[in-house]
Formats: sequence, structure tokens, C-alpha cells
Amino acid sequence: MQTREYGRTGKHVSIIGFGGMRFTDDDDESVRAILRASELGINYFDTAPHYCRDRSEDIFGKAFASFTRPFYVSTKSSIGDEKNADEVRRRAELSLKRLGVSKIHFFHMWCIMNWDHFQKVIAPGGPYDGAAILKKEGLIDHIVFSTHANGDEIRRMCETNRFEGVLLGYNLFNHSNRFDGILAAQENTMGVAVMNPLGGGMIPAAQSQLQFLPEHDDETVVQAALRFVVSEPGVTLALVGMSTVAQVEENAKVGDRITRPDPERVARIKRKYGEFGEAYCTACKYCLPCPAQINIPNLLSCLNRQRVGLEKEAGMFYEFFKKTGKTDFIPASACADCGICEERCTQHLPIRAQLREVTRLFESDNQSQ
Ligand code: SF4
Ligand code: SF4
Repeated sequence: MQTREYGRTGKHVSIIGFGGMRFTDDDDESVRAILRASELGINYFDTAPHYCRDRSEDIFGKAFASFTRPFYVSTKSSIGDEKNADEVRRRAELSLKRLGVSKIHFFHMWCIMNWDHFQKVIAPGGPYDGAAILKKEGLIDHIVFSTHANGDEIRRMCETNRFEGVLLGYNLFNHSNRFDGILAAQENTMGVAVMNPLGGGMIPAAQSQLQFLPEHDDETVVQAALRFVVSEPGVTLALVGMSTVAQVEENAKVGDRITRPDPERVARIKRKYGEFGEAYCTACKYCLPCPAQINIPNLLSCLNRQRVGLEKEAGMFYEFFKKTGKTDFIPASACADCGICEERCTQHLPIRAQLREVTRLFESDNQSQ
């Protein structure tokens, strides 16, 4: 497993990190997957309060108790739950206890949506100040942030020089959205961890459309898509959500054999998906609840599929949601145009316009097939 220095922290982290947001109810298999990851050289483990119905930190804690190799743990505190320094201390102390560790190596100010939000985080007496005190006390090593802001805003945040690294979404579908953020972090010698490197499951779903990605006979589409992310010079590591030993073994292979992709292929991918990346729902669900009870991420996942050329699957998914939603299924055409969802959207999507597109494609009498 290859490693890279995370910013200028002196910590060399594996280029594939273990994301702890996709554990199933099988805790024993989750623990086995974490232990296998450590055996294969993965040394960066990312979790957060609330992940997996608030069980993720406990699952890591169980696994860490049996670790024989050094590792780094990352967890988070959100201004939505911890608005001031004291609340951040309580959150971090709980995380330390659940994880069974004496320090958190990477402590994230979590889910910063935009510049205004960022200013609240760094305001005097706020969450950042709380983390800074914990750092002085040796309970955390590095203060970093995770964000869903766009590239320009991430640049402003990086240039404040308050943080040692950033966690942001990046993959071959949305590479254009936050690329400037990656560059800004690199210019400021910050670490960059990438979340959502497989497009929230879209890349595995679109394997038939992405057969041109692998560059080796034995490389899978998923491995090639991860390679696309970690071969970006400003990226330190990609976090991949894993829950089974088999997934760990497949994803860890990327870290053993990382080569820069053929530049012509990269240019082709960027051309093909450049526009799509501006309008791509990651299924994070932050836009919910909708007052009209519309399940926005489900409906936009149909649109995502349509846009990557999976028209048949898009229609099938729409019908599936309609059937399984039973009486609860609310069509996109029920949108009351209130705009609340757009204020909350992590990707800054024009959700209302996208729902109109869903209506045109799947709900109109003369819908296109
Ligand atoms: S704009 Fe439409 S989809 Fe968005 S919250 Fe309002 S009713 Fe729901
Ligand atoms: S519409 Fe935006 S907030 Fe809602 S799930 Fe998609 S990306 Fe997330």
C-alpha cells in the first residue's frame, strides 16, 4: 500500500482510507473488514458520530482494540450539533471513549456548506477554538475540515491558514466542481482526503458505460475510478466506504498499483462528464425533509442514471421507487416550488429544475424513453 504525507503533518497515510459510513448490521464482519484493511496496509480510518445509526465509532473501537499496527483515526464534530467550544469538548471526549483511543489524529469541523457557515465555525469561542484547546491538551493532533462548498469557497477557506487539511467530494463525474479546492489545498500544503470517490454508488452502477476506464486486463471499473481520484497530484488519499473483507481486498489493490492514468483518457473523461458534474446528486439526503414529502434523492438518482447513458435503468429505478413507495410515493410534479431543498443542498443543485426534468422524462404522458 502506497502512502503519502498528509499536508505537512509528518503523518504518512495510505492512499486508500477506510470510510466507516457503510457498515451493515453484521458487526463481526465489519470488525473483520477493518482488521483486514490494517493487514493490507490501510492506516487511515475515518468515522463520525451518527454514521451507521451512530454505531460507527463503536465498531472501530472494537476493531482498534485488536490492532497490532500503527494507525490514524479521523472523526468529526458538526456545528449543527456542537455550536461552541464546550460542546466540541464533550463531543470529542465521547468519540475518544467510543474509539478507545487516547487521541484523535484528524479532527474534522464537519460539513461546512459555504463561506458563511465557515465563518461561524471559526468565530471566537466557536467550534474551531474548542478544537484548538483540545489540540493544545494533546487530545487531538490536527484540525481539519470537511466541506460541500464549491471550489472558489474552498479556496477562501484554505487561504485562512487555520486548517491542516480538507475532506471534500471528488470523483470522475463531479471532478469539475471542487477541483479548484484541491489546487488551493495543495498550494497551501494541506492534506486532501476525498470522500465519495465512487460517486455515491453511481460508478459501480454505470460499469457498462465505463468499460473504457480500466488500463490493465485485471483492473475493474471501480479500481480504475479510484485510481482516477488518487492519481490527482493534490489528492492525499481517497476514503472508500467498506463493510466486508472482499470489498477491502478489492479496493486495497488500487493502493498497491497506482500509476498516473493516460492523460488522453483523463481528458476524455473530463470532457465527457464535465457538464454532468455541475448537476450531480450524491444522495446525501441533506435536502430532506421536503414539505411536499418528495423523496428528492431517489428521484434525482433516476436523473443521474439517465445522464450517464443508463436510460433503461433510469426508467426501471423510477418504476421501482413508484412501486415500493406505495401510497407514500410522491411524484416530482408535486413540487410546490418553495426552494427550501436548494438552500440545504450540499451540491448547490437547481433541484426544482431537475425535478421538472424528472417529470418530463418519467411522468409526462409523452415521456421520452
Ligand atoms: S422546492 Fe419542491 S422539492 Fe424542494 S423542498 Fe420545496 S416542495 Fe420539496
Ligand atoms: S439534492 Fe443535494 S442535498 Fe439532496 S441528496 Fe442530492 S446532493 Fe444531497
